[in-house]
Amino acid sequence: MTGMAATAKRLLSIAEAQRLVLGRVQPLPLETVPIERAGGRVLGEPGRAAVDLPPFPSSSMDGFALRAADTPGRLPVALRIAAGSPAPRALEAGEAMGIATGAVVPAGADAVIPLEYVVDHDNSIDVSDRVEVGANIRPIGGDTRRGEVVVGTGTRLGAAQLAALAASGVAEVRVARRPRAAVLATGSELRAPGNELEPGQIYEANGILLAAQLESAGAEVEVLEPVADDEHAHREALSRGLSADVLVTSGGVSVGPHDLVRSVAADLGVEEVFWGVSVKPGKPISFGVHDRRLVFGLPGNPVSVLVGFELFVRPALLALQGLAEPLPRFERGRLTHALEPNPGRDELVRARLSSDEEGAVLEPLSGRESHMIARAAAADALVLVPQGTKQLPAGQPVDFLRL
Ligand code: AMP
Ligand code: MG
Repeated sequence: MTGMAATAKRLLSIAEAQRLVLGRVQPLPLETVPIERAGGRVLGEPGRAAVDLPPFPSSSMDGFALRAADTPGRLPVALRIAAGSPAPRALEAGEAMGIATGAVVPAGADAVIPLEYVVDHDNSIDVSDRVEVGANIRPIGGDTRRGEVVVGTGTRLGAAQLAALAASGVAEVRVARRPRAAVLATGSELRAPGNELEPGQIYEANGILLAAQLESAGAEVEVLEPVADDEHAHREALSRGLSADVLVTSGGVSVGPHDLVRSVAADLGVEEVFWGVSVKPGKPISFGVHDRRLVFGLPGNPVSVLVGFELFVRPALLALQGLAEPLPRFERGRLTHALEPNPGRDELVRARLSSDEEGAVLEPLSGRESHMIARAAAADALVLVPQGTKQLPAGQPVDFLRL
């Protein structure tokens, strides 16, 4: 960028940083997984139907199979067909066959009349109206044809996708291997909950935060023992973490004398792709690569971790798994209260999400500082407040990210 003071380091925008991250992602190799264990995984090859669905013309009602041309009239009931068995024989002109929902419509029949619409005399029925050809018959292949793509490459498998594959006869899918992620919290002040705090200590929150976020993004997570601000301890832990596909650290990426993560990572051969993004919270985030491994250095404040993860780390994990659209999906909503924007940086403000007749409604939570994690517990959304805009009044439409 021209025209800026030579000393001022221009910070990347959120979008630029996301592009740089995704530009370094090399999708993980595929593996074959039975669909019972494929929930949450991302398809690496299209899931194609193994059969026509339905596989045979089937009745959508409990009723009687017949020929539309024989209605209205009294028809003898030749036999009854249950679900799960082949039709015993073809239907002949002038007769009806009892049929259950999901049973095979016999050859010769071209309609099913529901039980409720006939007078049933046991071995004959009275049909008072004309029945339309095709009524209550689900045609073969009406849902999908054998060989058709039921779930596309790059789709994350949720309940509906898994059911679609199962119904189409797919027993196994090809999905990206799960990313292996390592988490390392740094800081001499950190103590695990359950212990007494000594003066100057705080409880460690980022390990459990990151582990939960990483797991929800599909990763297998190893949480390393937190390290003090000590070069040797950093070196040991970081080199261990570098055996994962993704290493996420917290703390120690600012400019203080005890901020060691970037320099030790560089010593270990991590190529830094960027450091510093124009976002609040989370500005001093660093991102680097080591071969095909991704290394995220998030600042230590837990809210910076929460936000930095959603903006940069989750997209990387989803892209590693081959998800077609890995970037966070912002939605539109309206503010309940006015918000002051930050002059210099885009800000993500924690908010409580609800809805009214007009759509999503966002109530910004008090306490926007990045150490205030206890207040984040009430948040289920992050509102994007673009830098430098005028005050956002109550009722203002805004973009938000669901947590
Ligand atoms: P740093 O990025 O290391 O300068 O840390 C920024 C702030 O976050 C400091 O107040 C740290 O004490 C705090 N912090 C760092 N790591 C953690 C953690 N794992 N859990 C809770 N707070 C942390
Ligand atoms: Mg620190």
